[in-house]
Amino acid sequence: MGVLSHSTAFAPPPPRPDGRTNLVGLSREELEALLVANGLERFRARQVWHWIYHRGATDFAAMTTLAKPARERMAALFVVDRPTVVRDMKSVDGTRKWLLRSPDGQEVEAVHIPEEDRGTLCVSSQVGCTLTCRFCHTGTQRLVRNLETAEIVAQVMLARDHLGEWPSPKDGRMLSNVVLMGMGEPLYNYENVAKAMKIVMDGEGIAISKRKITLSTSGVVPMMRRCGEELNVNLAVSLHAVNDALRDRLVPINRKYPIAELLDACRTYPGTSNARRITFEYVMLKDVNDSPADARELARLLRGIPAKVNLIPFNPWPGSPFERSTDRAIQTFGDIVNAAGYASPVRTPRGDDILAACGQLRSDSQRKTAAERHAEQQTVLKLYAEKEAAQPI
Ligand code: SAH
Ligand code: SF4
Repeated sequence: MGVLSHSTAFAPPPPRPDGRTNLVGLSREELEALLVANGLERFRARQVWHWIYHRGATDFAAMTTLAKPARERMAALFVVDRPTVVRDMKSVDGTRKWLLRSPDGQEVEAVHIPEEDRGTLCVSSQVGCTLTCRFCHTGTQRLVRNLETAEIVAQVMLARDHLGEWPSPKDGRMLSNVVLMGMGEPLYNYENVAKAMKIVMDGEGIAISKRKITLSTSGVVPMMRRCGEELNVNLAVSLHAVNDALRDRLVPINRKYPIAELLDACRTYPGTSNARRITFEYVMLKDVNDSPADARELARLLRGIPAKVNLIPFNPWPGSPFERSTDRAIQTFGDIVNAAGYASPVRTPRGDDILAACGQLRSDSQRKTAAERHAEQQTVLKLYAEKEAAQPI
C-alpha cells in the first residue's frame, strides 16, 4: 500500500491524443489529487472547480483568479473538454436535440424541453442499451458502451453553453431539471451516473439539486436502494404493464425482476413520502395495456406506495410493432387512476418533429410505405432475437 488512502488514490483519466487530460468528470478529491501530483497547490482545485462548473469557463486564460503561471501550467497539461455537436435541431415547440460525438466516434443525444419558466434536460447514460423493451427504439440497438462520467456531465454543460446560462444562475433557469431518461439504462452504468450526478448537484458548481433530478429505471431492483441512499434523487420506474406475463414481453428485465419485487423496492426507496412520490411511467399502447381493467389493476398494485403515474402516449419509430392508444382510451385510463387517488398526467409528446420524443432517440425520419414498414418490423424482430442471444438479461 502506498501513502495515499483508498479514497484519495485514483488513476487519472487517460490523456487525450494531444497529451492533455480532461478535467471534466473528476470528483473534487480527484481534481485536487491531480493538481497536487502536477506540482500545483491544493487550494487551486476549489478555484478551478468554480471556473469550470460555476462559470462555465473552458479556457484557462479566462480563469483570472489564478496566478498567471498556474494558468499557463494548467493550459499545457489539461483541457476542459466539450463533446463535438454533430447536429443541433430545434423543434417547432422549442424542444432542442443535440447529437453529440465523443472522440472515439460514438454518438449520443441530449434533449432540452423548455417550459414557460423552467426547462428539463433529458440526459443519456449509455450508447445503446443491453435491454430490449419492445416499444423503445434504443432497445433495438446493442449496448456499445457505458458513457464516462465526463460524457454525462458534459451533456449538462453543453446545454448550459447553448442556453447561455453561465455563470450558474440562482433563479429563472431554463435548465432547471435533469432527467436520466435518454438513451440507456442508468442503473446499469451506476458508478459513472452517480459520480456525474454528484458533480451536477455540487452547490459550488452547476448546483442542480437532487430534488430536481429524476432517474428513470426499467427496474434494476438490486441497484435501487443504493441509488436512493447515495444520490437520493427522484425515482421514476418504467412499469408499462400490470401483470408479469405482459411485462415479461414488453420490458424483458421483468423476467429477472418481476413486478412484485420491483414494487417492494419502490416501497422501501429511501426518502419517499407523500411530498416526494415515485413516478410510474406507463406507455400507452393501443389494445395492449390500455384497458379500464388495466387501469384498475394499476391502482390496486400501487396501493400503499406514494406514487404518481405518468401516462406516455406511445411515440412510434421505424419498425415499431405498436400503435398509440386513442385519446379517449388515455383519458379513460387516466380518470380511473386519478379517481383512485394517484395524479396521472399525460406526458405531451415534445419535439416529435425532430424525433426527440421519449423512445425515439436515434431513429430516422423518413416516410415509409406499408411494405417498407412490414420489412422494418421483421428486421426489428430479428434484431431482438439476435440481441437477446448475444446480451442475455
Ligand atoms: N432506461 C430507462 C430510461 C430511458 S427511457 C428506462 O427504461 O426507464 C425513458 C422513458 O421513455 C421510459 O419510461 C421508457 O419506457 C419510455 N419510452 C421508451 N420508448 C418509448 C416510446 N416509443 N414512446 C413513449 N415512451 C417511450
Ligand atoms: Fe433501454 Fe430504457 Fe429503452 Fe428499455 S426503455 S430499451 S431500458 S433505454
